[in-house]
Amino acid sequence: MDLGKHVGRTGPSSAVDCQLLGEADGGPADGLPARYARAQARTPSRHTAFGAATRGRGPAIGMREIVRAAAARLYRLGARSTYPGGCGSRLPILMYHRVVARKDPLLNDVPDAATLADQLRALSQAFTVLPLEEAVERLQAGTLPPRAACITFDDGYRDNYELALPLLQQFKLTATFFVSTGFLDGGRMFNDTVLESVRRLGAHQRIDLGEIGLGQRSVSDAASRIALADDIVAAIKYLPLERREEVCASLAGQVDTPLPDDLMMTSDQVRAMARAGMTIGGHTRHHPILARMDRDAAALEIMANRDALTSLLGAAPNCFAYPNGKPNADYTAEHMELVRQAGYRCAVSTAWGVATHEMNRYQLPRFGPPDRHPGVFVARLMRMSFHHRPELVAFPHDEPSSPRPVSAP
Ligand SMILES: [Zn+2]
Repeated sequence: MDLGKHVGRTGPSSAVDCQLLGEADGGPADGLPARYARAQARTPSRHTAFGAATRGRGPAIGMREIVRAAAARLYRLGARSTYPGGCGSRLPILMYHRVVARKDPLLNDVPDAATLADQLRALSQAFTVLPLEEAVERLQAGTLPPRAACITFDDGYRDNYELALPLLQQFKLTATFFVSTGFLDGGRMFNDTVLESVRRLGAHQRIDLGEIGLGQRSVSDAASRIALADDIVAAIKYLPLERREEVCASLAGQVDTPLPDDLMMTSDQVRAMARAGMTIGGHTRHHPILARMDRDAAALEIMANRDALTSLLGAAPNCFAYPNGKPNADYTAEHMELVRQAGYRCAVSTAWGVATHEMNRYQLPRFGPPDRHPGVFVARLMRMSFHHRPELVAFPHDEPSSPRPVSAP
């Protein structure tokens, strides 16, 4: 999907522009969902339809639809007032990782499909969701449309393909998926090895975690499993990559039942995502903490991931997400420079906040609203517009701020 072609144009030849014009003209996008607009066209007037509905004679726009349409209009008005677009605008970039079919007691922070559907519906009603690269270009050029937003998913989980993609398509939204290529086709990230091992522990089964300073531990219920998994992840997250893998192998060896090998996407699924119009971005090969590696190893992780995606998709990725993504702790100015040298045009962190036009395009903040209720969800997005400036990697003179593709080493 060539996103660059939208940048800097003035004519209304893209879907985004048309939507904006329709909104300005009071056309079909003027505050009414298509379903409501169709229903409206079938009836002489809104008042007639409302009266028929309330008297129990149909065809009818039910009260629920009217309330939903009114709420959608309110969401749009609120989003427009907090994210006005143009010069000095702000860009909310939403951050997701996994989505589960049904609530998982060990994955409290992961939205289930119904929650994601509610959030995406609200987003589609309140915001103009743009591809990330286009949004960043327009943010920095001062041409961002009002109430613009972006959606991102990190890591490359299979549920992104199976659950998130159909919902994005249902609501005609686009998103960027940052993929760690070393786990495609049957791999497993270290945090999932931890969680799935802890999930499979028998009640009161003791495991030996002495090698990472946690002693003998056991679990009894969901809360103790979550606590143990969190402790293990915290203890090993910043270990060197090889050592982290050794600890994970040792942990998995203490569990009787096999761990899942289908948590991440296959290569074909990544290709299908791209064919469906989604953006695929880089996320390193093995998801290391870049700041804990020497420069050459970090460069290899970034470049090898970029090359793998390029050969998988036939085009180089333009957007990157730092693994773990915490400024200064997980990446530094050196890694921002490596990402720029790899030819990426923008990169996102996990610093909590909204992107502004003066920020360095290689460390844009994001946030992940957990709310299911659409009103609360949209209200949180609006509040984030006033969020204090996140603490980012300091960059002398805010350089590098522009992409400079170079050849791979
Ligand atoms: Zn990640």
